Amino acid sequence: MSQYTPMIQQYLRVKADYQDAFLFFRLGDFYEMFFEDALKASQILEITLTSRDGGSAERIPMCGVPYHSAKGYIERLIAAGHKVAICEQREDPKQAKGVIKREVVQVITPGTMMEGAGIQEKENHYLAAIENAGGQYAVAAADVTTGECKAAVFAAFDAAVHELAAYGVKEVITNGSWTEQDIKQIRARLGAVISVEEIAEESPFDRLLFNLTDGLTRKASARLYHYLHRTQKRSLDHLQPAEPYEIRDYMNIDYFSKRNLELTETIRSKGKKGSLLWLLDETKTAMGGRLLKQWIDRPLLNESDISRRLDIVETFMVSFFEREELREQLKEVYDLERLAGRVAFGSVNARDLVQLKKSLGQIPMLASLLKQMNGAELPKLADSLDPCTELFEELERALIEEPPISVKEGGMIREGFHMQLDEYRDAAKNGKQWIAELERKEREKTGIKSLKIGYNRIFGYYIEVTKANLSLLPEGRYERKQTLANCERFITPELKEKETLILEANDKMMELEYELFTQLREDVKQFIPRLQNLARTVSEVDVLQCFAAVSEARRFVRPSFSADGRMHIQEGRHPVVEKVMDAQGFVPNDCRMEKGRNMLLITGPNMSGKSTYMRQTALIAILAQIGCFVPADKAVLPIFDQIFTRIGAADDLVSGQSTFMVEMLEAKHAIANATGRSLILFDEIGRGTSTYDGMALAQAMIEYIHSSIGAKTLFSTHYHELTVLDKSLGHMQNVHVTAAEQDGKVVFLHKVKDGAADKSYGIHVAQLAGLPDAVIKRADELLHSFENQEKPKADPEPVLAREGQLSFFEEKPEPAETPKPPKKADSAILARLLSYDIMEMTPMEAMNTLYALQKEAKK
Ligand code: ADP
Ligand code: MG
Repeated sequence: MSQYTPMIQQYLRVKADYQDAFLFFRLGDFYEMFFEDALKASQILEITLTSRDGGSAERIPMCGVPYHSAKGYIERLIAAGHKVAICEQREDPKQAKGVIKREVVQVITPGTMMEGAGIQEKENHYLAAIENAGGQYAVAAADVTTGECKAAVFAAFDAAVHELAAYGVKEVITNGSWTEQDIKQIRARLGAVISVEEIAEESPFDRLLFNLTDGLTRKASARLYHYLHRTQKRSLDHLQPAEPYEIRDYMNIDYFSKRNLELTETIRSKGKKGSLLWLLDETKTAMGGRLLKQWIDRPLLNESDISRRLDIVETFMVSFFEREELREQLKEVYDLERLAGRVAFGSVNARDLVQLKKSLGQIPMLASLLKQMNGAELPKLADSLDPCTELFEELERALIEEPPISVKEGGMIREGFHMQLDEYRDAAKNGKQWIAELERKEREKTGIKSLKIGYNRIFGYYIEVTKANLSLLPEGRYERKQTLANCERFITPELKEKETLILEANDKMMELEYELFTQLREDVKQFIPRLQNLARTVSEVDVLQCFAAVSEARRFVRPSFSADGRMHIQEGRHPVVEKVMDAQGFVPNDCRMEKGRNMLLITGPNMSGKSTYMRQTALIAILAQIGCFVPADKAVLPIFDQIFTRIGAADDLVSGQSTFMVEMLEAKHAIANATGRSLILFDEIGRGTSTYDGMALAQAMIEYIHSSIGAKTLFSTHYHELTVLDKSLGHMQNVHVTAAEQDGKVVFLHKVKDGAADKSYGIHVAQLAGLPDAVIKRADELLHSFENQEKPKADPEPVLAREGQLSFFEEKPEPAETPKPPKKADSAILARLLSYDIMEMTPMEAMNTLYALQKEAKK
């Protein structure tokens, strides 16, 4: 250490505390990085790597970014999953003795970003702490930009991870003692950064913890707050007390199913466009947009809560004109939640506060509009809209309508708000008038018409006389200050004296304005909880008007709920597919499920609409339970406690699992957790393996769900053999999606009807496609012989007992026609194969191992 210069020593001391972050070390107008940080950052940011003498024998690698453009670079590092510690100079370099005092003022991390490209208007930005004790898991999640904090307990690690995924957390905080395996899972599933916070003491955060009664959620929340405090190093007054919630109060849709149903993003593009959220998002405020996403993530279970929302939507539906006006007004409401966050962070400017004022100004009108509409609920909502009148009035008195962005250069505060400020302003203004007057007088006195008084930052005010006129200037009073090419500049004692007064007034004016602004910001801080309450109500109104707008535009109807589990959907539609197709005409379908037909086995040719039909059923259930109308002519629905799906989706590339493994994982998840009140969608399950395996698994699952779970189930299959099961299973019913022939072409009618599909349909299509008659005839023959040989047995046991894919490992005699010379390598490969503990491998590892073995065997 001692070999380094004092500054590098200081750097190293600071860096030791921030090992996991890039240290942005302020040196004058730059943030510099040294050593490893410089090597890595220069690559990621594509900036020049230089070096610097630091006292040691070797030069120290260094790179830097200008202070004024640091924001973009920081965002890029964060987006790449890194952290940045900002280390500022904490004393005036002119006054420092020795090395300037420096200190880290904030650590910016993926989960604690407040603004920038990574923050989406209509999306929350969560980080979470996860805690574990006695087989239970707690998750505490916070959005630093809005101040929301929530916490819940989970009975299994898997469930907790599903919840973290639902939040879309960018960063997960642990106590540092988690196993490599668990961390790996969190990372793989969420793509989140893992951070460690060792302290989880509750006492400093009583204000935020009082709602939590459970020890584990308290601990998780406290750990989260400690982390925020340690990294942000400032008041976080906008953090709201952590709200406990019970997952069993909401419809549970696991991570797989959310993705499969494309609730908030599509599977393919991972974008919002094409998702249910995209269809629904007619919100007018950023806050409403975020709440909508939260509601979609957590449909309700309590019928009266659902009905309350539906009642309001209904009122909005029938009040067309008021609703349109409401929408116009909502547009003018600024993001109050994030504004409150920035007030607490100390990063608002006068423009933000003017926006706040304008938003508050909308509130009384919003409230009176709500009261104009009928219905019992709207007046209540109107009454809970707190316009924060005192704050509105103070902001109105204090700030001009269009203040500058900078808060340090004055020009923000209205005249008449503060006497002293007005006096300074007068002095500055009068001073300027005095100068103009002096110019006039000097011209008169000297007779120099071109004489003028100017100002620059180095010399202050001066009298400027062109060289040609110099002779006209009397001796004595004029002191020469500066000589230019064709003029000279002078000052006089009286000009100097006035200058001091004017400049002082200017300085004082700006200083005082800044002070007044800071005071104003402090005053706004007192209103943060009220602003947050207001934000909550406004966003609720926004989402509900959005439901009404969408329901009207897309001809949705109000659902009703059945107590006996009956589901009758008349002319139901898939809202997103319908919207995308628009003019071409989506074919609506009924869906009737009740005692005696709790399971529908769906058959029909490819592309006929099986998957669409299943998805639309789930979407209708979800829409109803978030309190929105539904795309149907009529809908009577049970309240589902959970929805499970297995719908043909892309490989789970993130965690490196094969399609079939994912399929089985999702199926297992459904079967292990579903109840009689759940909805299960299994779309062509078993497709990822050989025919026999697949069919056996499919049948076994149908039987199990039928007899042991009793969940409402839509099960599509390409195994026509399964359609006979309706004879043995009392609650199963066959339905099929129809297709027809028209002018020699197959036409998909997309209409769902009772009964099984015509099984020779594939051959029929082939015939229509014009395959030679001989081929068609042979296919027909083969089909008949297959059917006669391989009727599926009602009891799947014998098939399952063959152990599915494991038969791969059975030794098989080599076919006689192609004898291969034995290879020496074979026994070595076999030995290695036997040495693996397959149960301990991840599917990806298994895949890689298999690949390596095969490669060797091919040699
Ligand atoms: P399957 O699962 O039977 O192969 P899909 O559900 O994937 O069929 O539907 C295939 C395509 O058919 C969809 O992309 C959609 O364009 C169209 N389609 C599906 N259902 C309908 C419907 N009810 N009305 C109109 N078009 C539909
Ligand atoms: Mg399909």
